[in-house]
Amino acid sequence: MSAVGRFAPSPSGYMHLGNLLAMLLAWLDCRALGGEMVFRMEDLDPARSKRVYAEAMADDLRWLGLDWDRGWPDPDYAQSKRGAVYDTYFQQLKDRELVYPCWCTRSERLAAASAPHPGEKEHDSGCRCARLSRDEREVLLRGGKPPAWKLRSPDAAITVNDGHYGAFTQNPARELGDFIVRRADGVFAYQLAVSVDDMLMGVTRVVRGRDLLSSAPRQKWLIETLGGTAPDYCHCPLLTGGAGKLSKRLGSLSTQVLRQEYRPEEVVGRLAHLCGLADSDAPVAARDLIPGFSWEKIAKGDVPLHEE
Ligand code: GLU
Repeated sequence: MSAVGRFAPSPSGYMHLGNLLAMLLAWLDCRALGGEMVFRMEDLDPARSKRVYAEAMADDLRWLGLDWDRGWPDPDYAQSKRGAVYDTYFQQLKDRELVYPCWCTRSERLAAASAPHPGEKEHDSGCRCARLSRDEREVLLRGGKPPAWKLRSPDAAITVNDGHYGAFTQNPARELGDFIVRRADGVFAYQLAVSVDDMLMGVTRVVRGRDLLSSAPRQKWLIETLGGTAPDYCHCPLLTGGAGKLSKRLGSLSTQVLRQEYRPEEVVGRLAHLCGLADSDAPVAARDLIPGFSWEKIAKGDVPLHEE
């Protein structure tokens, strides 16, 4: 089976160097395997997603020399246009009583449509809605206040064999609690959408920042529960701000600004050196890194941006 990789950015802002590192590694991993690249726009949250950012992201990837074979702007690859697809799988979970409605305000507060990044508290210690009787639930459902829908987290040790960090085991019920698959406003949540999409789009390689490693067991479980085959997960180090002035400046620079000051080969060369892929930060085209690409060269710890 040939490899299928993906770019899956959320268009809630301009990309910065950290995003570019994850995109570069996802692309190199896929192309080094001779695979096909998919570009999916994760614009689930209508309040945070903007077309201008989506267009800028596509343009930044092209500028960097990272191409894709199918995907955005084809609406089949925009999560905001895929509600009917998610609904089919949501109904399956509902029919199997794997999800329950939740009227707690906490569920309303949780962003859920966005991927959980560091510093965002995810643990759900359980609420009364999980324990309502069928009758109590029916009464509340008829009451008209729309609920969020939560998935009963599996109480089992789930292991993901991460291609870069090795075996990662998690018991989602004990470590994270139940999680939202559909918000009260009807928007489907990140965990459901990403699992359904990776499954239906035939993705076999998920390469992304290691802050999402803790989502991988739930996604693997969801895909297998929905009858699919989970992809291989390969998380990558994150870029962190260094101490120096330039580092801070570079780290926070959006690609919009970066592109005025640097050539794409300079950015790729810098990123490749920072993560351990290249011995020097000499300018290099992304495609020229394909032959020498190996996860063994890539740092495990987060990568600080340092002074020039
Ligand atoms: N769209 C998510 C983000 O930008 C990434 C989701 C994923 O790679 O699974 O944080």
